Amino acid sequence: MKLYNSATKKLQKFTPQDPDHVKIYTCGPTVYDYVHVGNLTSYIYWDLLLRTLQATGYQPYRVLNLTDVGHLTSDADQGEDKIEKGAKKLGRTVWEVAEHYSTYFLQKMSDLNLLPPDKIAKATDYIPASIELIDLLTAKGFTYEINDGIYFDTSKLPEYADFARLDLEHIQAGARVEFNSEKRHASDFALWKFIQPGEDHAMRWNYKGRNGYPGWHIECSSIIHQELGEPIDIHTGGIDHIPVHHTNEIAQSQAAFGQTLSRFWLHCNFITIDGQKISKSLGNTYTLEQLQEQGFSPLDFKLWVLQGHYQTARNFSINDLASAKARRLSWRNRLAEARQLQDHPAESTPLDLEHNILAALQDNLNSALAFSLIDTNYVDLKTWQFIDQLFALGLFSDSPDITPAQEQLISTREHARAQKDFATADSIRDQLQAQNLTVLDTPHGPIWQYLK
Ligand code: AMP
Ligand code: ZN
Repeated sequence: MKLYNSATKKLQKFTPQDPDHVKIYTCGPTVYDYVHVGNLTSYIYWDLLLRTLQATGYQPYRVLNLTDVGHLTSDADQGEDKIEKGAKKLGRTVWEVAEHYSTYFLQKMSDLNLLPPDKIAKATDYIPASIELIDLLTAKGFTYEINDGIYFDTSKLPEYADFARLDLEHIQAGARVEFNSEKRHASDFALWKFIQPGEDHAMRWNYKGRNGYPGWHIECSSIIHQELGEPIDIHTGGIDHIPVHHTNEIAQSQAAFGQTLSRFWLHCNFITIDGQKISKSLGNTYTLEQLQEQGFSPLDFKLWVLQGHYQTARNFSINDLASAKARRLSWRNRLAEARQLQDHPAESTPLDLEHNILAALQDNLNSALAFSLIDTNYVDLKTWQFIDQLFALGLFSDSPDITPAQEQLISTREHARAQKDFATADSIRDQLQAQNLTVLDTPHGPIWQYLK
């Protein structure tokens, strides 16, 4: 299996440390709002990664965190806490807000048939672990304390800029103009923030005799240390994470434990919507419910995502989603046909089809190629099962067999046609249509299909 490793900027052969326990960590959402199609895109790609690993014979063990505290509106440790902001908007407590949006997110994962994480780690459950990590960093001389918090001194770690190929001098020079905090270097980041007098921050813990809360990056390093152990096999996230969040995770773990955090780093690119960046102020994104209101299944959206590649910047539109929906319908109908012709298939499936589909995925998750193999070959029932396991597009669950009553209607229609009783045949066709079925008259006899 080959994967593109952002750490080396190369396509590399992937072999896990332990095939029966492939350690994977996914940076999860900040639970302050409803996840939208942009966020969900990333988790759909990682589901394909997990399923490809499974089909290759590995057993992934994946931890996903939920950032339920302390992620400020800006990556630069400034601005309002996103959860506090959500609480004000909803008129609920911060804990209720985090719970509400976490439940929603996990429900959407399930609606998309995404494999549930083996471990869901909430940042707030790792406060003692995070404090322990900050203490360790302090003991090793990597931190300093200023008025508003405890910071990681990036100048103490010579390899700090390597991962994202950051130009620190440039960052420092650019920051000098507007930069007036007590931070020593522009790239230094908060491990812990102290709550200032007059500051409204409901989630708070006592550390060093003062009330405060963790910085955003510390949770991932402490969760990985506690739940997986360094080095993990694969760390996943969005490309937005590279310059700050992942750079800082790596710095914390490397400085504290003297270990590489992850052997492979996979980053997905962003989707735009109708040619525009997804933005709160434009309100231009969709939730899955909004797509469902327009007649799309979450799995139509999943198929749209998997038509592209995780490293490609892509544009989403309702028109493209409609094509994905049509493709999924055509697959469901081919599956229905394979089921009807099980004993006398129209064509045969190439012996190497399953192998070639998996090989496409093992080549850096090339699902587009795998899909074109599905489109251009006859697929028998057994191979549809393989496909549905690999992509989890609900092809079987959304393609129920017809009922005995419907079967009876189809044979009555056949009989009527043979008798040239077209009035009866047409009336039965209408009845079937009302039940989402149509009948094609083929050389193999009548074949029913779904209309939608
Ligand atoms: P956040 O809650 O903002 O940290 O986002 C959760 C995940 O969704 C992160 O991995 C982001 O990289 C990813 N994400 C956010 N917006 C998009 C987008 N437009 N396209 C793809 N991934 C996104
Ligand atoms: Zn993270």
